[in-house]
Amino acid sequence: MSFKVKFWGVRGSIATPGPRYVAFGGNTSCIEVSCGGQRLIFDAGTGIRNLGHWLMKKNVHQAHLLLSHTHWDHINGFPFFSPAFKKDHHFTIMAGHLAEETGGIREVLASQMNQPTFPVPIDIMQAQLSFEDFKAGEVLNLGPDVRVVTTPLNHPDGATGYRVVHAGPASCYVTDPEHTHGKPA
Ligand SMILES: [Zn+2]
Repeated sequence: MSFKVKFWGVRGSIATPGPRYVAFGGNTSCIEVSCGGQRLIFDAGTGIRNLGHWLMKKNVHQAHLLLSHTHWDHINGFPFFSPAFKKDHHFTIMAGHLAEETGGIREVLASQMNQPTFPVPIDIMQAQLSFEDFKAGEVLNLGPDVRVVTTPLNHPDGATGYRVVHAGPASCYVTDPEHTHGKPA
């Protein structure tokens, strides 16, 4: 029944190294939620690099990666997520905000790893990567007792908010929403 949340990256826009940022770290968005025997990773900002090292150390071979959206600060760590380069690992990568003309989440993540802006293409990754686009608002069942309710957020290019429900309690990951005057969100 345990519900564990770990913050690997909490900054927005750009990583912020330096002594002023030691308390909460300088990495961009990446949150790990463990519940019901499942491991959910929210966003692949620069914080996912250290999470990747930790998963390798703990011999964890499987997780769901749920992206709020695909602005740089939420995906820039993905090319440095070391377990994705290892065989016998399996990651399901999901996003709910992308319009059809973007080509979907695989295409968007692959494009940031293309030359000449990055030297290692996504095809080099040896893990089994399953890419799944859904429509924000859908409910995702990610385990026998792990239900993830999603909702579209008001953000340029779209974004998805998540509510993870396990054995009663719930935990939400809702980042970057912009307020509309006269409305709650
Ligand atoms: Zn954004």
